[in-house]
Amino acid sequence: MNTLQDARALDAQDPLRSLRDLFSLPEGLIYLDGNSLGPLPRATSARVQQAVQSEWGQDLIQSWNKAGWFAAPQRVGDLIAPLIGARSGEVVATDSTSINLFKVLHASILIAKTQANTAASGQKASKNIVLSERSNFPTDLYIAQALCAQHGLQLKLVSQGEIAGSLTPEVAVLMLTHVHYRSGHMHNMAALTQAAQAVGALTVWDLAHSAGAVPVDLHGANADFAVGCGYKYLNGGPGAPAFAWVHPRHVSAFEQPLSGWWGHAAPFAFTPGYTAASGIARYLCGTQPILSMTALECGLQVFEAAQALGGMAALRHKSLALTDAFMQLVQTQCAGFGLHSVTPAAQARRGSQVSLVCSAAPAANQPGPAHAYAMVQALIARGVVGDYRAGDASAPAAEDRLHIMRFGFTPLYTRFEDVWQAVQHLRAVLANQEYLKPEFNQQHAVT
Ligand SMILES: *Cc1c(COP(=O)(O)O)cnc(C)c1O
Repeated sequence: MNTLQDARALDAQDPLRSLRDLFSLPEGLIYLDGNSLGPLPRATSARVQQAVQSEWGQDLIQSWNKAGWFAAPQRVGDLIAPLIGARSGEVVATDSTSINLFKVLHASILIAKTQANTAASGQKASKNIVLSERSNFPTDLYIAQALCAQHGLQLKLVSQGEIAGSLTPEVAVLMLTHVHYRSGHMHNMAALTQAAQAVGALTVWDLAHSAGAVPVDLHGANADFAVGCGYKYLNGGPGAPAFAWVHPRHVSAFEQPLSGWWGHAAPFAFTPGYTAASGIARYLCGTQPILSMTALECGLQVFEAAQALGGMAALRHKSLALTDAFMQLVQTQCAGFGLHSVTPAAQARRGSQVSLVCSAAPAANQPGPAHAYAMVQALIARGVVGDYRAGDASAPAAEDRLHIMRFGFTPLYTRFEDVWQAVQHLRAVLANQEYLKPEFNQQHAVT
């Protein structure tokens, strides 16, 4: 793709092009932030209004049965299952990613400890480590820190290249985010799961940047636990319920710690003692946000429409073509400005985003690392929405210290023409040094 005409030709041939019409996108905006908050599907407003006016307004409490409110976590979970290589009945849509991580990480720690205690005495290893990446999404690390403190475990944080070598017999759980939120690097889920299980560890995968973005095969990888996010690539709306999956071999073995009544075997028996439901229902806690759940269901119905056009395989094919085109155009159109991609060039190691950084040693007329934030602001002012992620100044690995400009390419609605135009705007921001303007250098609360 070297010209606007090339981009338009690719859009005209795109077998998924009709899916864009299922979204309500602001006119003229190039939205490259669906990895942070997915846009509004066209069907959502009317459906949520119906849930408010008819299900809530007219039918009131009867809607728990009549409108299927009570079964919503499982029904919506069944729409997520095919996107992540899970089976029907194995996923619940519920709570937030942070809360679901707390539940599954707790269960995985208990299982790992029990397995270690029942191992033949000669091979008993003390399972006292939860292993993760130092640059993992912070909420995942915060939740793991609290759980490790409660269970007397150590949270060991390493850089990406050190994970495989850190899988010692002391590791109880390997907890990773499948596609890295900063770099867009995608782990080899099957290989790392196998390596973890070889030392008797369990795996917890966070699919926040994978579900709906790249094909995931939890059963194929023999993963143990997974959680993911509803408001990013699944387009469920701000604060949409997240999801949890547990491999059937573990699901009824352990209780999660938030033993609320929705996870009870018979919630409406109103008995004083807790008996966990069998299966994934026990990973529910309390009453669900039904209006948000309704919106999430609309987001997932877009994937049902995509299924008829080739599903996740077709979406992945387009996603890679979009990210390839963006990487290549940045190289050719923005040459000489010191920008480079930190997202893997290898397709198999890449999610659905491209992350750029500014040169560490900028020449005159080039932006430096500190200009990444203002570059993103200047692009937003031009109608190209990406986002900025600050580096961790005290991180030992250089890649974790980088200030990143992040661009998500959601294949459901992003056009090749959007990629072309975004790069033209990027070049203009660089050529005009728009990142030096004071208005682009003021930090907001949410970046
Ligand atoms: C977005 C994201 C979350 C979000 O967690 P919330 O509980 O929804 O705030 C968690 N983990 C990862 C890896 C994410 O990318």
